[in-house]
Amino acid sequence: MAGPCSAETEEQVMETARQLAASDRVDVFRAGIWKPRTRPNSFEGIGSEGLGWLKQVKKEFNLPVAVEVATEKHVYEALKYGIDVLWIGARTTVNPFAMQEIADALKGVDVMVMIKNPINPEIELWIGALERIHKAGIKKLGAIHRGFSSYEKTAMRNQPKWLIPIELRQRIPDIPLICDPSHMGGSKAFLLDLSQKSMDLNYDGLMIESHIDPDSALSDKKQQLKPFELIELLDKIVLRKPDTNDSDFINILEELRSQIDMYDEQLFDILESRMLIADSIGRYKKEHSITILQSTRWKEIVNKAVEKCGDRGLTPEFISTVLEAIHQESINHQMKIMNED
Ligand code: PEP
Ligand code: MN
Repeated sequence: MAGPCSAETEEQVMETARQLAASDRVDVFRAGIWKPRTRPNSFEGIGSEGLGWLKQVKKEFNLPVAVEVATEKHVYEALKYGIDVLWIGARTTVNPFAMQEIADALKGVDVMVMIKNPINPEIELWIGALERIHKAGIKKLGAIHRGFSSYEKTAMRNQPKWLIPIELRQRIPDIPLICDPSHMGGSKAFLLDLSQKSMDLNYDGLMIESHIDPDSALSDKKQQLKPFELIELLDKIVLRKPDTNDSDFINILEELRSQIDMYDEQLFDILESRMLIADSIGRYKKEHSITILQSTRWKEIVNKAVEKCGDRGLTPEFISTVLEAIHQESINHQMKIMNED
C-alpha cells in the first residue's frame, strides 16, 4: 500500500497515483483525508472533497483506494465514495468508544478494514479493536504495525516492539499483517531496514507513504518518498523465497530465526540499560567513598537468580556464567568511573 500521508490537491493525488500505478508495484493507493494531528492549527486534512479525487484514482488507474476513518461520519462518507479499504489510525484503536462507534457504522457492510496498533504497547486494545470490527460482520480484516509511542526521545518516531505483532499473529493467525515503516521510523533513513525486517518476519505487506514532492508536503515531510524512490526501496528489499518443496519449513525457520534476533536485540538493550544503572551506582559510590565490590549484595543477587532459574527451564550453571559476565562488565564500568577525575 502506498500514497501520500495526506491528500492535499487534486493534482498531487492524481500525479502520485499515476506514478505509483505505472510502477505496477502498488496494490492499494492510500491517502489521509481526515488527519489526526497532535496539535491544533496543523493541516487537518482536505476532508470529503478529497474523496472525489480518490474515486477518480480508482477509476482512472484501476487501483483500490484506502483512507483512515475515525468516526461514524468518516465511515459513511468513505463508503459513499466507494473507498475499498478503511484503516483505523493508532489514535483511534486506543479508544474503545470510538472503535465501537465505527463498528456500529460498519454493520452489514462489505469493505476491507485494517487496524493499526494502538499508540501505547497494549496488545489487548489492538485485539479488542479487531474483535469489535469482526463482530460487526466485517470479513476482510487486517492489522497494521506502525510502532508504539514512548516518552523517551528515541531515534525512531515510534518504537517497533516487534514481539507485540508477533504475539498478535500467534493469537489471530488468519489475518494479513502489514508493516508501516513510515510512521514507525518517522524518517526516510529507517525505511529500508524496517521494511526488510518485517519481510524477514513474514509480514504480508507494507504501507509506505509516498508524495510527488515530499519537501512541500503538508504533513509528515521527513518520512515520505517520491514514487521513484519508493520503487528503488522496494527493489532493495530481499524477499527470501524458500524453495518450493520445503517452503513451509523454511518460512517457519526464517520466522523463528528472526524472532531470536529480536530477543537478542532486546537482551542487549536491557544489558545497556543495566550498565547505565551500574554507572550511576559507580558515581554514587565515588561521591560517598564506598568500595566497588560489596560481596554480600552480590551473593544475594546470585542466590536469588539461581533459586528462580528452575522455573524458567535454565540451569544454575548457565545462570551463574551469565551473571558472572554481567557482573564483571558492571565492575569494569564502575572502575572506569571511580578512576575518572
Ligand atoms: C497515517 O497513516 O497517516 C497515520 C496518521 O498513521 P498513524 O495512525 O499510524 O499515526
Ligand atoms: Mn502520515
